[in-house]
Amino acid sequence: MSIAIYPGTFDPITYGHIDIALRASKIFSHVIAVVASNPSKKPLFSIEERLDMVRVCLKGTANISVISYEGLIVDCLKEKNASVIIRGLRALTDVESEFQMAYTNRKLYNAAETVFLMPSARYTYLNSTMVKQIAYLGGDITHFVPEYVRLKLIDKTAVPKKTSADPENGK
Ligand code: ADP
Repeated sequence: MSIAIYPGTFDPITYGHIDIALRASKIFSHVIAVVASNPSKKPLFSIEERLDMVRVCLKGTANISVISYEGLIVDCLKEKNASVIIRGLRALTDVESEFQMAYTNRKLYNAAETVFLMPSARYTYLNSTMVKQIAYLGGDITHFVPEYVRLKLIDKTAVPKKTSADPENGK
């Protein structure tokens, strides 16, 4: 059985992430999407919220499971008896950092093989940061994330409206 893990911050999961996970699920017998805590990236959503959104968005595919993980990706690989790490490659700009990560993981665990998959062309320029920025500015993110995620993003990025009880109101 060929198991692959698909690690990411998923802050939040987008159609680009989903595209890669589904492609991987057609190649490997089991794919484990791993929501990494990644505190250095200061995620907008908590790890529980990200895990929940990834679960909801990938629940339709039987050979994909979803977990969260706080440690090194190579330790996750060993725990799951896997050797393949899936990563998505969008434009050339991803290559430098992705190669660095792939070689580092191989250095840490010689059996670790990173497999890069390309998303559908329409998701090439899609990333979570851009989606969050659009949401903060009140733009339409329908084409970038599933409805469940869109509503969570609207909740999270909503700027509270001033009420008449607000002491700052009318100043
Ligand atoms: P990380 O912080 O580990 O880069 P991300 O959630 O940003 O986590 O991305 C996880 C993986 O998904 C990465 O390999 C990234 O390149 C890939 N990915 C993100 N968005 C897209 C997209 N639109 N198309 C293809 N791959 C993507």
